[in-house]
Amino acid sequence: MKSGAPPEGFGTRAIHAGQSPDPSTGAVMTPIFQVSTYAQQEVGKHQGYEYSRTDNPTRTALQGCLAALEGAAHGLVFASGLAATDTLVRTVVSPGDHVVCGDDVYGGTYRLFDKVLRPHGFQFSFVDFTKVPMEQAIPEGTKLVWLESPTNPLLKITDIRAVVTRAHAVGAQVVVDNTFASPYFQNPLALGADFVLHSTTKYLGGHSDVVGGTVLTNHTAAYERLKFHQNAIGAVPGPMDCFLTLRGLKTLHVRMERHQQNARAIVDFLLDHPEVERVYYPLHESHPGYAIARSQMSGFGGMISFELKGDLARARRFVAMTKIFTLAESLGGVESLIELPAAMTHASIEPEKRKAIGIVDGLIRLSVGIEDLPDLLGDLEQAFEASRA
Ligand SMILES: *Cc1c(COP(=O)(O)O)cnc(C)c1O
Repeated sequence: MKSGAPPEGFGTRAIHAGQSPDPSTGAVMTPIFQVSTYAQQEVGKHQGYEYSRTDNPTRTALQGCLAALEGAAHGLVFASGLAATDTLVRTVVSPGDHVVCGDDVYGGTYRLFDKVLRPHGFQFSFVDFTKVPMEQAIPEGTKLVWLESPTNPLLKITDIRAVVTRAHAVGAQVVVDNTFASPYFQNPLALGADFVLHSTTKYLGGHSDVVGGTVLTNHTAAYERLKFHQNAIGAVPGPMDCFLTLRGLKTLHVRMERHQQNARAIVDFLLDHPEVERVYYPLHESHPGYAIARSQMSGFGGMISFELKGDLARARRFVAMTKIFTLAESLGGVESLIELPAAMTHASIEPEKRKAIGIVDGLIRLSVGIEDLPDLLGDLEQAFEASRA
């Protein structure tokens, strides 16, 4: 894309933003700059790159593309979603500060906050933004609010605008972990959030072949501090990982449409099924957060959770018997996955707490991929049959 072009549609940005043909060769795709250091013409005189922990051209391209997709002025990438989370928290709050966090955030986020950052003096409280009134959920003195919407794995919807209004009234900043929605369906900065975080391991990379994380913001001063910490802490991705993520982004819009199409049909199938107790999908009329979801999201991808009737043993048999849905943690790739949150992704949360927030033992989570729908439906149907006692 030529510089100076007007802002483009999502698909055009996904393919071109942050990138231009390599000036030395004309290579259309940003090369993998597999290099640690850069020649200087004289002391301190270089072409913008000195050392690859600080900056690397493949990383620069990825950062520019991700920022464009969230409509952000600035983007930074990290070695994983949790590396991005850790660097962001250490940048925007200090030990002693109070952070209010959603109560069913990603298990690894909870573990980082509770087991790593809390012992260093950071204060966390965990609340259900869908139940507790905002004045109570975000008390005076709060410095940072951390939320996911939709959440994992119950796909609860938080009113992002309402959180932002209350948080800003008490002088707190807001981070939205937008991993589940992807920037294709939801843009929290446009809803007033201060920072957006993604595990790029999921929908953004999209092919289950690379781990990464990103932070996007419009606040220039905060970006400068984050960039300082990105280099000072050094939890950066290598150029190959940046290349793979950049390549994945180019089809994000096409993939998300297909994830959504398959997921909606599977939701209808599950809702009609006599052996299903309940189904969670935010953009279905049956979901309690449907109205808010519609007001802040333009669609939703392939994440579905459902409760199977019967005991834990039945659920364990079910997830072991699908053939196209692979039994695995993670989500957001082109291939369909299935898992039991209580025994897998959310096993690090204490059992009592897990039950209290609704992650029952028989809850099954699907990450619906972009295979052919009849094959996915057929696979689930045969698992219902094969898992009957
Ligand atoms: C996977 C995930 C993370 C953590 O990302 P990693 O890349 O695994 O470190 C954070 N938030 C959400 C919602 C996730 O799904």
